[in-house]
Amino acid sequence: MNRSENSRSNRFVYAIILVGPIAMSLLLCAAAATQARPPTEPVLRHSEVVFMYAADNDAYRAYNATFVAWGGAKTPAEVKRHHDIGVRCTGSMWCLTAGAENIHKNAALREACAVDIEGKPVEVPWLFDHTYRDTKTYFGCTNHPEFRSLCRQRVREAMAGKADGLHVDDHLGTAGAAWWQGGGFCDWCVKAFREYLKEHADKGQLEKASVSDLETFDYRELVRKYAKTRAEYKKVQHEIPLMDLFLDFQATAATEHTRQLGLLAAEVAGHPVLLSANACIPNRAHEYVVKNLTHIVCEVRQNAAAGVERIDHAIEAYRLAAKLGRPLAATASGQDWAFVKQQNCEELVRFWIALAYAHGQRFMVPHPNRQWCFSNELGTHWYAAPVEAYAPMYRFIRARSRWFDGFEAVELKQLNAPDNILCTARRNADSGQVVLHVLNRNYDKGGERFDRLPQAKISFEESAIAGGVKQATIMSYDAPEREVPVGSKNGEIEITLADLKLWSLVVFD
Ligand SMILES: [Zn+2]
Repeated sequence: MNRSENSRSNRFVYAIILVGPIAMSLLLCAAAATQARPPTEPVLRHSEVVFMYAADNDAYRAYNATFVAWGGAKTPAEVKRHHDIGVRCTGSMWCLTAGAENIHKNAALREACAVDIEGKPVEVPWLFDHTYRDTKTYFGCTNHPEFRSLCRQRVREAMAGKADGLHVDDHLGTAGAAWWQGGGFCDWCVKAFREYLKEHADKGQLEKASVSDLETFDYRELVRKYAKTRAEYKKVQHEIPLMDLFLDFQATAATEHTRQLGLLAAEVAGHPVLLSANACIPNRAHEYVVKNLTHIVCEVRQNAAAGVERIDHAIEAYRLAAKLGRPLAATASGQDWAFVKQQNCEELVRFWIALAYAHGQRFMVPHPNRQWCFSNELGTHWYAAPVEAYAPMYRFIRARSRWFDGFEAVELKQLNAPDNILCTARRNADSGQVVLHVLNRNYDKGGERFDRLPQAKISFEESAIAGGVKQATIMSYDAPEREVPVGSKNGEIEITLADLKLWSLVVFD
């Protein structure tokens, strides 16, 4: 697609999301004056090929890349390099921490860490190996002006090249510390929670918690009646009055913080921008922010060690993103990638890629140099994903984009497939055409490979395809296209796929 057209229509969409209702109606009027019909180009197409971090142009070409989601283009030169080869790009920042060295050297930032009920800073457990002298990596408090100021400075740096979008990593900030690590109790958090209660708590809730005067209420005093240390607090946290409201407040505050960072990014770039976050749905705390995003870029746990047995979690995430109306570009978790690196199970990764696209979402290209791995034994380490192992799948998706873009999930009545098959159906709303995605889930964990299925019989109600159909086309990334006959019996369509390897599309044209 012509990049300038694409970018123009996209930017209109982004603008709707980032501006208020009055400005939005003005924008709509302006658009109506200059365009025959509103643009319909989605923020991310179903066939989008997304890199997580920036890579060199050869890698982009090998994968037919269209988008870089997690930063890597913060200078004008970097943005130009991406645009010159038709790749949209982003700047990225994080709200997790000021970093151990900054915290060690800067007293103001040390004061702006998330703290527990004892007033002690809360360390980030998965960055246990990132320390500076005797200082650990502590959560920054996104309710504290000093840390917020650092976040805003990071946005200015990330967007200095005027990239197409901003990606916010660890968008939860203090909320992450509050939900799971015993944090969220600095003076700024307590003050903001007091204001939140004024608007959101009903009289009954406050009476039950024995709050007599909201003007002077300090939640820490109430919490200390139940727990004086972090260890005690973590045991009884969810029995403490007003806790649901406290967690709701923290997640809501983080969501508003992310929205404000998006506004700042647009101001710095001088144009409306895409806004994504590492919103790890289906986790509830991560859902709050989704409404403020144009799309989701996140880690989705694939449970690699269980082969394909516990893949339901990923499917739930993909379906939820569709339900929330935000396109998602996923990668596996750091633990999953550590497993892949250790076991060299490329075939399993190819299944993850197919699974995401079969559900209308995108699995980000396994990075050729720098795919983040994490394990308790090794901490942070990296996987260099071989291009030849994965690029053919992505090239296939781009080459067949017409069978991905514009197709949405549809439930076919009486869809029957064998247990070792995962089958999704998608329909194009304009043409009515139906595509089946057929995935082999006959995975041999010991051998790290999928055993081919000699015959896979699939059937569904005939009325799903208007006008009937006599044959279908089978498309696979690793086999030539072929036509197969479609049988019809007792009001059902029946099709048999021979020699299913990993993933095939069945197109009823
Ligand atoms: Zn705080």
